[in-house]
Amino acid sequence: CAVFGIYGHKEAANLAYLGLYALQHRGQEASGIVSNDGEQFYVEKGQGLVADIFSQQALARLPGTMAIGHNRYSTAGGAGLKNVQPLSVNFAFGNLAVAHNGNLINATMLRSELEAYGAIFQSTSDTEVIIHLIAHSRADTLLDRVIDSLTQVRGAFSVVLMTDQGIVAARDPHGFRPLCLGRFRDAWIVASESCAFDLLDAEYVREIEPGELVVLDHQGVTSYKPFAQTKPAMCVFEYVYFARPDSRIFGGKAVYSIRKAFGRQLAQESRVEADIVIPVPDSGVPAALGYSEGSGFPFETGLIRNHYVGRTFIEPEQSIRHFGVKVKLNAVPEVLEGKRVVVVDDSLVRGTTSRKIVKMLRHAGAKEVHMRISSPPIVSPCFYGIDTPTKKELIASSHTTEEIRKYITADSLAYLSLDGMVKAAPGSPGQYCDACFTEQYPISFTRAEELQLGL
Ligand code: 5GP
Ligand code: SF4
Ligand code: MG
Repeated sequence: CAVFGIYGHKEAANLAYLGLYALQHRGQEASGIVSNDGEQFYVEKGQGLVADIFSQQALARLPGTMAIGHNRYSTAGGAGLKNVQPLSVNFAFGNLAVAHNGNLINATMLRSELEAYGAIFQSTSDTEVIIHLIAHSRADTLLDRVIDSLTQVRGAFSVVLMTDQGIVAARDPHGFRPLCLGRFRDAWIVASESCAFDLLDAEYVREIEPGELVVLDHQGVTSYKPFAQTKPAMCVFEYVYFARPDSRIFGGKAVYSIRKAFGRQLAQESRVEADIVIPVPDSGVPAALGYSEGSGFPFETGLIRNHYVGRTFIEPEQSIRHFGVKVKLNAVPEVLEGKRVVVVDDSLVRGTTSRKIVKMLRHAGAKEVHMRISSPPIVSPCFYGIDTPTKKELIASSHTTEEIRKYITADSLAYLSLDGMVKAAPGSPGQYCDACFTEQYPISFTRAEELQLGL
């Protein structure tokens, strides 16, 4: 998902709209904006793409100098209008709206406890637990109640809340999902990725740190470190696939250059004699450029993507995903005929896309097809906000690389090594979560949670 918040601009909702538009890649199922004019909250939500949901008229119904927004793709709680964020309520402390990116591991347990005390939930989303914990808190101030709530949830949250007074943004102590701070003239902004600032011509200030909470209000930005500190576990898969290549996340350089470094490292690790290197567009492009640089084989565009089809993996229905591969990509025979082709993709999940791509390339005349994946085999699901399928559907959880090579019918198949990936990522390797590649989950599960999550 994507989150966005802006404080202190008379066109807050319009800027939130542009921010969400830039963050569309993080969720295409539904979006919402809640604005605040100092008297009340205004809500506009819908299912589908940002540009389709918010008309001029809808944006005109969102007055005020502060707003928060959200793009959704469901990892917990399922689709449906009732789960579209920001969730907003009016309670003893006034108005409150919440937009959340990440997954809370203990949401089901907390929800049962809250329901036992009489809480009535409006949605099936794990995010609503945050609101009920705020309402049930015994702390005196609203800020302390927010902190109290966020201290009780375990898992991943990059969360943006709006109160009558201002905006609160927080990142869980592991810092699984990105969240950054920006500035637009006198206004302060928070957004999942810096690409949201670029569209507004806003200035990127810094990443909000793991375990940091910031308040944006009439006093400007106030930073707190209210949570117990722990080892960071930032999602390395944001680099592999999820974030936009022009974004700076986790305080580092552009994701583009990291993906390219993954490709260069992959070329070093698994060189093969070939005539051309082609990407699986769009997600494989930077890594394929890196592979081309690292191997010396020319980069070509052997597959063309139809950009009017949504990102397949974000569609929740299996049937749509399979349909999507065919309508999305087409081969260019003039590029491929008689060639030994290295085809680079960012990740291999189920193997169904790769299998179709290999067939497509051979059909278009490729003499040899060597599949290269710029991340390690995905062996276990994510519980921190990325929609990986169940373990059973992850082909690498139960098959060797050679078995997968056979299945996708490639002449060779190689993945980027785990060491190679964390070496090519900025900073120290220990600061990343790599659980979907290693099953080393940074947050330990209780037995009840293991059973519930199917571990
Ligand atoms: P596969 O070959 O595993 O079917 O698909 C891999 C390709 O599709 C990659 O380009 C990846 O970007 C995308 N993809 C397809 N399904 C998923 C999914 O469920 N999760 C993720 N993370 N990526 C997927
Ligand atoms: Fe990211 Fe994988 Fe960790 Fe999930 S399990 S947070 S996708 S690295
Ligand atoms: Mg892809």
